[in-house]
Amino acid sequence: MKRVPVNKIIPFSSVDGPGNRTAVFLQGCNFDCRYCHNPETRNVCRDCGECVKSCPSGALKLGESRVVFEPAACVSCDACIHICRYGCSPRIRNMTPEEVMEAVQKQVPFIRGITVSGGECTLYPEFLTDLFVLCKKEGLGTLIDSNGTLDFSEYPELTAVTDGVMLDIKAWDDEEHKKVTGVSGVVVRKNALELASAGKLLEVRTVVVPGLFDCEETVRETARQLRPYLAYGNIRYKLIRYRKIGVREQYAVVCRSPSEEMMERLADIVRSEGLDDVIVI
Ligand code: SF4
Ligand code: SF4
Ligand code: SF4
Repeated sequence: MKRVPVNKIIPFSSVDGPGNRTAVFLQGCNFDCRYCHNPETRNVCRDCGECVKSCPSGALKLGESRVVFEPAACVSCDACIHICRYGCSPRIRNMTPEEVMEAVQKQVPFIRGITVSGGECTLYPEFLTDLFVLCKKEGLGTLIDSNGTLDFSEYPELTAVTDGVMLDIKAWDDEEHKKVTGVSGVVVRKNALELASAGKLLEVRTVVVPGLFDCEETVRETARQLRPYLAYGNIRYKLIRYRKIGVREQYAVVCRSPSEEMMERLADIVRSEGLDDVIVI
């Protein structure tokens, strides 16, 4: 099985889906969101070697043709991430599904399941399918945190072993979606409705950035479109307040944070469209 770049594995997380879970973050993303809080997860390392000398602890070394990362020596100072010009991180381990499962194994008695996130984890659908098959053998739940650009209808084996998807709705209108992410949202909206009709849409999330897109229209239209599918399973709407933390400087000046009143108004709109499970963070 081909290895995929793993950015990090958090053994115990209570914020990546219901219950206690192991969260696995894969490297690489096909979006370029103006407000991305983890821009270093978007691209895969080019092994240019420029960050090696910035490492204060010897955790990075130049191998024959690539940068070698020693996790045990890393002091998590983020110097390498700040110096990288390509929006990536050298702190990557290329792992097979079996190797990731080995890292999950120790937690099995204490967790409800795993959540795979990114970057954008659905760039690696075969890896996800194989990993989730291994999880199912251990009785673990399987969730995906996604920007929604993989057409799930074309991957029935993956959908079958996935318990639920937590899906970003960056903007409902397609021109606005392109403005926010650089990419069309046609497949995202298709996924939202199809996953909801299969009872596999656990949560939708919208990052609220006033002025960047029409937040009210996105929230209203998303809730309105999803409401008919509540009969197949609960759908939570998570409204995420934009904060400047971690964002790239060129976008920090064009994005602003919403007020408390705005967040409450959006939550009210979601409820008025029939989705009662709304949280604001
Ligand atoms: S989808 Fe997520 S990881 Fe990718 S650019 Fe957008 S915010 Fe960043
Ligand atoms: S993380 Fe960036 S700076 Fe470091 S080797 Fe990779 S591409 Fe070069
Ligand atoms: S985050 Fe880790 S690998 Fe990167 S520079 Fe700091 S110690 Fe080195």
